[in-house]
Amino acid sequence: MDVPAPSSQTSNKRKRETANQQENNSQEKQRDGKAFQFHITGVPMRDKVRTLFYQVLTTEDRKQERQIPTHVTVEEIEEQLFVQCDKETSKEYQERFRSLYRNLKDTKNASLREAVLSRTILPKDFVVMTPHELANPELKKEREQLRKESIRESKKSVDTQTFSEEFQCRKCGLRKCSFFQMQTRSADEPMTTFVTCHHCGNRWKQ
Ligand SMILES: [Zn+2]
Repeated sequence: MDVPAPSSQTSNKRKRETANQQENNSQEKQRDGKAFQFHITGVPMRDKVRTLFYQVLTTEDRKQERQIPTHVTVEEIEEQLFVQCDKETSKEYQERFRSLYRNLKDTKNASLREAVLSRTILPKDFVVMTPHELANPELKKEREQLRKESIRESKKSVDTQTFSEEFQCRKCGLRKCSFFQMQTRSADEPMTTFVTCHHCGNRWKQ
């Protein structure tokens, strides 16, 4: 976070602007392009977070009128984040911010920015989203694919497990074991054999 905190002089100006704004709704438009349009908190870290959220949300959507102005959404997001982190600008606050910010900044994640700006995702819900929920659609699909593949793989290993008298259970002494083999290390090393005793449930690998 390398954006300097606003000076006190500009913050006073901003307070006046916020007051004026209640009388004049078109001010949002007039002040378009200015870095600060929201209430400042006086806490440098929080104001930086608001600035960065505002910047990342206005890069491509600046021209579009929003039912709820972007600076209001930004204020709410930061406020909710602060509340979620026990009203402290703690390590958790900073880490959460980074995760949210990184995903908002992702060029492939226009749908997340739009959902936040249009309030399809409300600020209170946005700040508690998991990295998985925040991920861009492409990445989400990729991860889902990986998850499905790993389920398929683990099912396959169950399907291919073989009963064999070859193994004797060291716990109960019976030869009622099934096994399957899997490559757990590099491809040129021997496979690991996973054995399950179907009498007592003992499991081991060899
Ligand atoms: Zn056994």
